[in-house]
Amino acid sequence: MKNEKPSFFSSITRRFTRDIGIDLGTANTLVSVGGRGIVLREPSVVAINKDTGKVIAVGEEAKRMLGRTPGNIVAIRPLRDGVIADYHSTEEMLRYFIRRVNRRGAPLVNVVVGIPSGVTEVERLAVIEAARKAGATKAYVIEEPMAAAIGAGLPVEDPQGSLIVDIGGGTTEVAMISLGGIVQSRSIRVAGDEIDEAITNYIRVAYNLAVGDRTAEQTKIELASATPLEQELTLTVKGRDLITGLPKSAEISSEEIRSAISKPIQSIIEAIKLTLENTPPELHADAASDGIMLAGGGALLRGLDQLISEETRLPVRIARDPLSCVVLGTGKMLDALHDSPQIRRMLEKASKG
Ligand code: ADP
Ligand code: MG
Repeated sequence: MKNEKPSFFSSITRRFTRDIGIDLGTANTLVSVGGRGIVLREPSVVAINKDTGKVIAVGEEAKRMLGRTPGNIVAIRPLRDGVIADYHSTEEMLRYFIRRVNRRGAPLVNVVVGIPSGVTEVERLAVIEAARKAGATKAYVIEEPMAAAIGAGLPVEDPQGSLIVDIGGGTTEVAMISLGGIVQSRSIRVAGDEIDEAITNYIRVAYNLAVGDRTAEQTKIELASATPLEQELTLTVKGRDLITGLPKSAEISSEEIRSAISKPIQSIIEAIKLTLENTPPELHADAASDGIMLAGGGALLRGLDQLISEETRLPVRIARDPLSCVVLGTGKMLDALHDSPQIRRMLEKASKG
């Protein structure tokens, strides 16, 4: 944002209060605290006792329980599909993370939460309400693609088109941004999770082998690529034999995984192409010169930048820290909030209700 000097008053206020930026992602939640940067990265997972409705664990601890809980405990990802499937656990999760970064209970002034652009009006208000209940004096929400673009350093306020593609766990968000607003966007429920599922299905069918979600994700991170690799890879994957029920492993190649994940990859590319097609020609021309910016964990999939570039015939860049773009964006907005009326207006517009 603008590098205006903070006023004397605002810098004093900021020393004794807390401004918090939150990326409420479908897979990961990140929190930044004004003046301290990113202080928390945890999976967006909540473990709940079904009998009592009580939250037992949140974040990493709850993620370890996914798929291995006894009957009365469920580990859930409340935002899995980019919509808030469960208000209660979303609220609990938000509250828990805010408390953890603000143990001393310093008065919270501004809280900015990045939320998937697919959420409904009711869900948006629920997030604002949850942030207020967790202690925020002023709670704002901002659409993730906008926060991601700001975090990635795109010139969102300029009269110039910037195309951001944020590939997360549950959703891929594609947005053309100009003059501080989203001109054209698309949110699809195809992203990292769907790629993991394609891998699980392939291994089940090809090897009669059942693997868990974490194994599928690990296989993706180690083996998956969108384009042929100079040196193709192999990996031994462990699971349960579907016929005998016994532990079994199989050696799987990067070529196999590449073809297994081609459908979700194509859906992501299709969403980018459709957004481009619906973009006014001037902005399209900007994208042609500045290219597409990739953010979110999915941006790290090998060769995906190259494939998107080949298919759209546009240059593609990966943000410097794709997993942190949204939270960095919320942090930049908080810094600017004190000093930039433009940013304040942008946030107020996105958060009214
Ligand atoms: P969200 O914003 O929806 O919470 P993130 O931006 O945190 O999602 O990205 C999480 C997704 O990124 C997960 O599906 C994860 O498997 C995927 N991911 C993380 N690292 C890599 C990698 N190196 N290669 C491919 N996918 C990755
Ligand atoms: Mg995200």
